[in-house]
Amino acid sequence: MSEVRLRFPPSPTGYLHIGGARTAIYNWLYAKKHNGKLVLRIEDTDAERSTQESIDGILDGLTWLGITWDEGPYFQTEFANDHTAAAQKLLNSGHAYKCFCTKEELEAKRETAQAAKQDFKYDKTCRNLSTDEVAAKEAAETPYVIRFKVPERDDAVIFEDEVYGRIERKYCDIEDFVIVRSNGKPLYLLCNVVDDIRDRISHIIRGQDGLANTPRQILIYEALGAKLPTFAHMPLTLDLQKRKISKRSHGEIVAVQYYREIGFLPWGLTNFLVLLGWSSGDDQELFNKTELLDAFSFKGISRSNSIFNYQKDDPKFITDPKALSINGHYLQSIPVAELAAKVRPFMEKENIWDAAYEAEKKEWFHQTLELIRERYHTLVDFTTMGRAYFAEDFTIEERAKKKNIVKNPQLEQWLPMLADRFEALTDYNKETVEQAARALAEELEIKPGILINGSRTVTTGCLAGPGMFDVLVTLGKERVVARLRNATKHFA
Ligand code: GLU
Repeated sequence: MSEVRLRFPPSPTGYLHIGGARTAIYNWLYAKKHNGKLVLRIEDTDAERSTQESIDGILDGLTWLGITWDEGPYFQTEFANDHTAAAQKLLNSGHAYKCFCTKEELEAKRETAQAAKQDFKYDKTCRNLSTDEVAAKEAAETPYVIRFKVPERDDAVIFEDEVYGRIERKYCDIEDFVIVRSNGKPLYLLCNVVDDIRDRISHIIRGQDGLANTPRQILIYEALGAKLPTFAHMPLTLDLQKRKISKRSHGEIVAVQYYREIGFLPWGLTNFLVLLGWSSGDDQELFNKTELLDAFSFKGISRSNSIFNYQKDDPKFITDPKALSINGHYLQSIPVAELAAKVRPFMEKENIWDAAYEAEKKEWFHQTLELIRERYHTLVDFTTMGRAYFAEDFTIEERAKKKNIVKNPQLEQWLPMLADRFEALTDYNKETVEQAARALAEELEIKPGILINGSRTVTTGCLAGPGMFDVLVTLGKERVVARLRNATKHFA
């Protein structure tokens, strides 16, 4: 059997998009699963739009995701000679021809076609030039493009896409397309095929938008006498309004970098992206790497567009809720020491990192992470919702204040009373704290929940969280007493 070789060929004209990352992940999975190789090729032929910043961002994003490649990065521009040589070969073998038509001539023909409500297709004027006519134009140094000579046949280019099935495109519907511009630069369609042939790519997994190119690319493969790779096109990812997700309409939320910044774990994002267009056939949504390698196949790739749940008008919205829940699952299940290392840079950024969390306070730190992570979805949550555990300058959520403080103004007296009771405890633990709170509630003839929710609000700033007696113990007597005593400031 011939070697399984895949490629990820991003054009470095922007950041690594989550759609691009999904393509990379599918290629990587397929290569890994079949003991194949993944080639990384930067398609930088569009000199005006390609930037070094984008190349760095793409490599960085792939590395962060944990997508490893076996060859490359190769740069398409380094193979310009191959592209020109292929164009020459196609000319020599009669699969391509020089077209001397000027822009103005073509424009006039296009307008005539439009006026007659016909689709414009190049009328092959130059395909039919005699050898003498061509020689005369060449002698006069008339500028030309090179066009591919599409066979004049009644049937169709047919191929079997691994996802979309049998695809047919009639020869007569394919224009003699340009493969080299008048400035001598080969076009992308050609370069892409030439590189895939040279890199011995056996499988091409790419977005459904590539499907329109495939029949023409197949013609190039055939004309160059190369073996066709297997094609698998993936469905597009659309938002709820059925628009393609893009930087222009969705902003940073489609950039891999964004997920890194809001504290996604690489595998959390990978798992989510894999599910955008693929399923294992049963209800399983969470996969570790081994399980995913085992389950992944072309069969599971859907033909219908996948939906990225983009709730633009929801102020709490930071990304697709499913992405958050998947990431939350991994945050909650990785070993706590690993979590601690991942949370650290986020805390450092917020200036709430304490070196003691790696020394004498390590145990407390790990226990605290263990306690609070139950409800968190991203690493940033530890410094926002979890800030009160690590700093004094935390804010109180408006809805918590409304529900638990404003409605019970007497808490202004009761919370300092609770502080006194806690302070008096010689042994401050979960049981004694609970007893003290319940006893005070009974004396005051109020529901314990009023004290409990009130103290949650002023000690953590949050409306909800882990069991309150665990929280009070984790925060520690000193901080709890001080915060309850100072609660009066929230009643102003
Ligand atoms: N450079 C192309 C892109 O980024 C790759 C298309 C392909 O996979 O053939 O869209």
